[in-house]
Amino acid sequence: MELPVTSLFAFEPTANPIDANERVARLADPGFGRVFTDHMAVARWSSDKGWHDAKIVARAPVSVDPATAVLHYAQEIFEGLKAYRTGDGGITLFRPDANAARFRRSAQRMAMADLPEELFVASCRELVAIERDWIPEGDEGALYLRPFMIATEVFLGVKPSAEYLYCVLASSVGAYWKGGVKAISLWVSHDYTRAAPGGTGEAKCGGNYATSLVAQAEAIRRGHDQVVFLDAVERRYVEELGGMNIFFVFSDGSLVTPPLTGTILPGITRASIIQLARDEGLTVREEPYAIEDWRADAASGKLVEAFACGTAAVVTPIGKFAGPDYDVTIGSGGTGQTTARILRRLSDIQRGRAPDAHGWLDRIA
Ligand SMILES: *Cc1c(COP(=O)(O)O)cnc(C)c1O
Repeated sequence: MELPVTSLFAFEPTANPIDANERVARLADPGFGRVFTDHMAVARWSSDKGWHDAKIVARAPVSVDPATAVLHYAQEIFEGLKAYRTGDGGITLFRPDANAARFRRSAQRMAMADLPEELFVASCRELVAIERDWIPEGDEGALYLRPFMIATEVFLGVKPSAEYLYCVLASSVGAYWKGGVKAISLWVSHDYTRAAPGGTGEAKCGGNYATSLVAQAEAIRRGHDQVVFLDAVERRYVEELGGMNIFFVFSDGSLVTPPLTGTILPGITRASIIQLARDEGLTVREEPYAIEDWRADAASGKLVEAFACGTAAVVTPIGKFAGPDYDVTIGSGGTGQTTARILRRLSDIQRGRAPDAHGWLDRIA
């Protein structure tokens, strides 16, 4: 079924679309987060009018006054989700309602305007329907959507902004890991933490990323791919990567992932994997896992695999992890069987190659 192109968002087509040949050239090797489509969805909120001016317009710079609140106090939240081509020529979004619900929770934590879930989902659906030609063909490509909201009141006082801009960008993306899935190496940060109890760890806000960058840079400097954080209180329990959740796979076939106690971002990929693993009859425990146990279990062979997960890369095997005085290889250091199977099962559902038993796909065309 074809969705009417716009319903909640008025469509003002760009006067200067990128021509079809140029688009095809850009889609040949889009990488991640650099190729953008012609349009963006926008809506504004003010304390007197509520949400208004919802439209899909030409993608263009947003010009703001230098005293705009977000530039000073970082009231900003975002989401990330993908539109996929399915084998039968269709287009689907994966669980956009879950992103919409999380966006509301993030807004609440950051004292920002509440965006109704219908408006969030409509902004994604309508933008994808307009930009459908920007979804790369082939097995690995997708249209990555980046909904975000910023505080736009021009005022230097410290208080929740009285005005907000909501915006959705669409970016054509290829395989996240060029040359196929390859196990990554993690640096365990014992110096920096990402989130503390009572803080913003479970909100998807830009500030969480800002605080993670120095630790991520240290991981790269030391020759690793990503940083993994420990809890801020005991500095013992593994929490998550800068932008991905983590799972551990044991020799008895069971899985462990850290529990959502407020300091971990509740990933939609994480939730989907827990469901798929349980569907397979595997035991999944959401419980704290200490770094000393991770080291001992990897050494003894009790731990056989570990992987990270999130929308951008879906599932990423972890081959090694290291800290100031340890350097540990998990199993053979490559991609484990359970990791590979979960990645395949989840991407088969997302791309319409396997039955969508849980109703996760939102079909746009
Ligand atoms: C977005 C994000 C994730 C993954 O969430 P998904 O919904 O699976 O994409 C994990 N950790 C952090 C810190 C994130 O920002």
